[in-house]
Amino acid sequence: MTAVTSTSWTAPGDPGDEWHSPLYHAAVEQLGRAADLLDLDDESRARLREPRRSLTVNFPVRMDDGEVVVFTGYRVQHTLTMGPTKGGLRFAPHLSLGECAALAMLMTWKTALVGLPYGGAKGGVRCDPGLLSDHERERVTRRFASELVPMVGPDQDIPAPDVATGEQEMAWFYDAYSQAIGHAAPRVVTGKPVELGGIAARREATGVGVVEVAAAVLEHQGKAVEGSSFAIQGFGNVGRVVAERLQSLGGRVVALADVGGGVHDPAGLDVGAIAGWSEEHGGLRDCPFGRPIDSRQALTTECDVLVPAAIERQLTPEVASEVRCSLVVEAANGPTVPGADRLLAARGIQVVPDVLANAGGVIASHHEWVQARQRAPWDDRTVAEQIGARLRAATARVIETAAERNVDWRMAALGIAVDRVARAGRLRGVFP
Ligand code: GLU
Repeated sequence: MTAVTSTSWTAPGDPGDEWHSPLYHAAVEQLGRAADLLDLDDESRARLREPRRSLTVNFPVRMDDGEVVVFTGYRVQHTLTMGPTKGGLRFAPHLSLGECAALAMLMTWKTALVGLPYGGAKGGVRCDPGLLSDHERERVTRRFASELVPMVGPDQDIPAPDVATGEQEMAWFYDAYSQAIGHAAPRVVTGKPVELGGIAARREATGVGVVEVAAAVLEHQGKAVEGSSFAIQGFGNVGRVVAERLQSLGGRVVALADVGGGVHDPAGLDVGAIAGWSEEHGGLRDCPFGRPIDSRQALTTECDVLVPAAIERQLTPEVASEVRCSLVVEAANGPTVPGADRLLAARGIQVVPDVLANAGGVIASHHEWVQARQRAPWDDRTVAEQIGARLRAATARVIETAAERNVDWRMAALGIAVDRVARAGRLRGVFP
């Protein structure tokens, strides 16, 4: 009998067509390179290349003016091998099934790299969150939550905040899910408000973790946050915390931008004043505290460390040829396209990959989930120490593996993660 690969049983069309998106193809390319590094067998490659489950929903929502608008939402679960699946829900205008598939795969590597008992998932609603009123956002979130009831659950799949979602959306999601199943199920989401069982550390955990990892890497290079300069693209859930934290540690933030605009000052920006302006004016457009720049210029500003903290595919080869830094720390998911990765490497610019740099958020989520399960809160210090310790251990392991195998940090991180998940898959075997 000949060996069965997923390819030989696939109907017309190429494997993976369902998930078509530039980000998915980049994720599969990265998986392929990590698999080559590990000399991974074909069976494991086929099992890891495509998501296990996905759901696409179209649902009507009544807007404030009485009109009914139909929204499309997605949830993709990449692997069920490691435990329940975990990953955020985003609200974004061009969200697609393929983008969610790629981001779900990245979540698998992220949780495996830092040793959490989860597989990866991602989802969200295709919408422009800036155009929704608070009431509309609530109705979209609640209806989407009820559409996801068959797919999510405290021991199945646990959503969390992501781009343009936060504590309030998680509170609505938790409530809608609980109404549907008839009892309170706080473990169905993480990133909830503290009043509902969230943990204080979760809100800032991704940004704090980015700085923790950046500090560990700089230390490895004989440098420090203090005295280094930073350019940050993105001023949302993550970018803002990164900027504030870096400044409080003595780092010089020289450029900051969001989608509407930004500011530059080689002498260092006043992050607190800029955050105040952004809150008051709903963004950085026309912010007066520095020379005006746009979001792309933030990426090419001269600095020691560049932190893309917005969305995916920002560092294209064209941008990568213009960046002027010695280190990139990926606070966003998938901000660097593979061609740009190679270009940065050729220019001697090292990249701390997303799956390591922004893992603080999901580590905090795990703490929130475990505490809800135990019905016993831990103190904030213990949580912060444990998040820091997990990130530092993963950073050290990535740096060590990269040196041993003579690969970049992304390949080292993916190699560690893919190896863990592939081993687990072989041990669990194939059903029946
Ligand atoms: N959305 C975050 C991420 O991309 C966090 C996911 C979670 O906490 O489950 O890592």
